[in-house]
Amino acid sequence: MAEHQMYIDGKWCPAASRETFDAINPATGQPFAKVAKGGREDARRAIAAANAAQEPWSRVPLWERSQVCVRMADAITAHAEELADVMCTELGKPRHQEAIMEAQETPVHFLTAAEQAKWLEGDFVPVKDPTKRVISMRRPRGVITVLTPWNFPAAIPGEYLPYAIVMGNTVCWSPAPTCAVTAVKLMQILEEVELPPGVINLVTGPGAEVGDELVVNPGTHAVGMTGSPATAKIISQRVGLKPRLFELGGNGPTVILPDADPAKAAERIAPACFFAAGQVCCATERVLVADNLKQAFVDELIKHCGDWVSGDPWDEKVTMGPQNNRGVLDKVERHVREAEAGGATVIIGGKQPDLGDQFADGYFYEPTIVVDFDMEMAMNKEETFGPIAKIRSFSDDEEAWQWINSCDLGLETAVFTEDMTKAWRWAEKLRSGITVINDGSLYWEAHLPFGGGAGTESGIGRIGGRHTLEFMSDLKTIVFHLEE
Ligand code: NAD
Repeated sequence: MAEHQMYIDGKWCPAASRETFDAINPATGQPFAKVAKGGREDARRAIAAANAAQEPWSRVPLWERSQVCVRMADAITAHAEELADVMCTELGKPRHQEAIMEAQETPVHFLTAAEQAKWLEGDFVPVKDPTKRVISMRRPRGVITVLTPWNFPAAIPGEYLPYAIVMGNTVCWSPAPTCAVTAVKLMQILEEVELPPGVINLVTGPGAEVGDELVVNPGTHAVGMTGSPATAKIISQRVGLKPRLFELGGNGPTVILPDADPAKAAERIAPACFFAAGQVCCATERVLVADNLKQAFVDELIKHCGDWVSGDPWDEKVTMGPQNNRGVLDKVERHVREAEAGGATVIIGGKQPDLGDQFADGYFYEPTIVVDFDMEMAMNKEETFGPIAKIRSFSDDEEAWQWINSCDLGLETAVFTEDMTKAWRWAEKLRSGITVINDGSLYWEAHLPFGGGAGTESGIGRIGGRHTLEFMSDLKTIVFHLEE
């Protein structure tokens, strides 16, 4: 079985403890590789290397750092097929319908960082004192901790790493353990551009040890984390006064107003529910549909379920892979069973598919439609992170708002209506970072501001393009005194 090491100070190395953990293929439930199980000592070595590298790296001209990111993008593009292969094995992402798309999208983040950093202008600030001239400009923060989840194991590191280094920071990166092999592959690709040692360090291992050390250690200066609200709450208690960017979970909703076209809505909503087996932070989970359209919408949505085919992730026809791990599968099953017991109806799916002996221990779940869930149910209050369309009807706007406000999450919402005045009003009122009108909630691009609405549990701050560059830098004000 292949054994993968960590990347610290420009060298591949085992954990100080020499311990490893198994990487599991979620399609079969079987181990396929071993990965270095880093701990606090390894995290500290990474922090020391990142600190030693940071000042010299910050003196490399911005245009050169930008070129490094362009070369990284080129390297990822050149290795996209291999990267997709690793994601197919480690995450069970359908090789042809999902993994390759992510591998090809990842370089876009590197190019966006490279491009936008060059246009991040500072300010000349007018002041009252005639002897002063004041400018403000962006400076690196220092060493950035980057904690990434497993659901987009190449693209999400792409949302942090190039933005951090192009601004002159160095990085200590720790991925979720269930995507560590993809992280190793990505790091091997990035290493091809001959980055100075210590600029990006990869430490694999449990979040509660490696991630925690990277959060609390005074040698790191800001924390960027994409993951669950539960982890973000732990980190919040540990991070002290360091700046933090949290990109967390979501639970919609998508709202279908009485004047919408139910067939068009179903066509757009189905991929938003089922792509990546629903394991997308901005997936459509809850759908609130006007009473008059409920049956028509459900009928239309059922027609699209057949597009989502589970099976061998290497098969070109397979469009839906497994859940990432046993814990996610158990949560999906728990939410569905609890809803059913409470009176909701499972219209389609609601169980693991029978895919034969080879995948009998895999974590697959059928595309599922649940109608008439209740306010207190976990599937209303929490992110499920499975291929579950949760549908509930409402009779008027007031009732819809009660449902919306009964969940603390607010990442990406969607509204379907033909009335553009209503669309604007709803978009302005919804407490989510993003609202899509007349499309599924899955839409985003690398440079768009993305994140949770203020006061929700979906995150703090915005990621994407110049918003990430701003997080990765400190605003420095410089005052010049001129003699009279
Ligand atoms: P997670 O919260 O379990 O882990 C996220 C990261 O935090 C991992 O790198 C993990 O190793 C680390 N970590 C875990 N415990 C830690 C601790 N005590 N201290 C420091 N670090 C710790 O999340 P996950 O299961 O890997 O990812 C799924 C979640 O990510 C879902 O909730 C999903 O919605 C969310 N997500 C959000 C976005 C977004 O952009 N908003 C994008 C993708 C995924």
